[in-house]
Amino acid sequence: MTGIYVHVPFCARKCPYCDFYSAVPDKNILEDYTQALVRNIREYTSKGVKADTLYFGGGTPSLLRPAQLDSIIRAAKDTFVLENAEITLEANPCTVTSEKLEAYLSSGINRLSLGVQSAVESELETLGRLHSFETAKKAVENAKKAGFENISCDIMLGTPGQTLSTLETSINSLLSLDIQHISAYMLKIEQGTAFDCDKIRNSCADDELSAQMYLKTVEMLVNAGFEQYEISNFARNGKRSRHNMKYWKGESYLGFGPSAHSFFDNVRYFCPGDTKAFITQKTQPRIVQEENPDKLEEYIMLALRLSDGIGFEKLTALGGNVNAVVQAARTFEKAGLCSISQDKLHLTPQGFLVSNGIISQLIDSAES
Ligand code: SF4
Repeated sequence: MTGIYVHVPFCARKCPYCDFYSAVPDKNILEDYTQALVRNIREYTSKGVKADTLYFGGGTPSLLRPAQLDSIIRAAKDTFVLENAEITLEANPCTVTSEKLEAYLSSGINRLSLGVQSAVESELETLGRLHSFETAKKAVENAKKAGFENISCDIMLGTPGQTLSTLETSINSLLSLDIQHISAYMLKIEQGTAFDCDKIRNSCADDELSAQMYLKTVEMLVNAGFEQYEISNFARNGKRSRHNMKYWKGESYLGFGPSAHSFFDNVRYFCPGDTKAFITQKTQPRIVQEENPDKLEEYIMLALRLSDGIGFEKLTALGGNVNAVVQAARTFEKAGLCSISQDKLHLTPQGFLVSNGIISQLIDSAES
């Protein structure tokens, strides 16, 4: 089944490290934008596409009014069925209130992803975030009270001034919230952002400290009962992100909104990042990136991000040379970077840290 991604390119304020396609919205644009999304979704009526995940990402989708989100969800249900679907809303802790949370639930939103980032006030301030940790805590408590049983929080590693000790504080604070999912992302200084300067670069963790932070995060979350199921993602009680799993398993997804990507009918394409054009054009344009991507290469690249790793049966079915892959992986295994069993191979947390190099070597071996 397909996954549906809806991009909402609006934020209350632009964070200094962010290069996502998003901007502070003009007053009346949210309603026009909602209508453009609904129009584009309904274009798929009668095309027989069935989906079982819907993901509102951004940007800050919680800037849309509950009624606007509801009309998009209704259009998506009419068009893609969405039976027993996981419906996720990314939200900024500042923008959710108890009333909004109840409205989200009655529209069918059953998973909340909150951009918490840190529990240390000075770090939140440096990151340009509008919320305090108290606000984030309140948002989680209100969500639970409203009835949400699947809540995810994001945390950032390697941010300016962060130390192993402040990271531990943030993780312990998140764990005290008793949530089901945590995404832990390493800060990457993106070109052209406000963070793209020496002052910031010099105050961020170097490679060695970043590696320690990553391994500490994995250790603390795993000890707290989370399963690390992907390089940066951890879940409790099987609450993996069903939508994001589609990306990593090479399944199809349709993206709506400027800068949203799709992989459908074996074609990778995206809609250009131009909100005005998206609103005014009848149908969103598609820029094709790749047709019929190399399945073997894609499989190795994506599956090695997951703790499930690559299965040898599937590798063989895709024409990969399993013996050559295992032989090449033995060196990584000796270094503690991967683990090989009879029917599969997966990276360890140490291996995830250097995954790019391992993946390209294993792709070469599989194709030999
Ligand atoms: S809220 Fe999220 S999407 Fe918006 S600017 Fe900040 S990091 Fe980027």
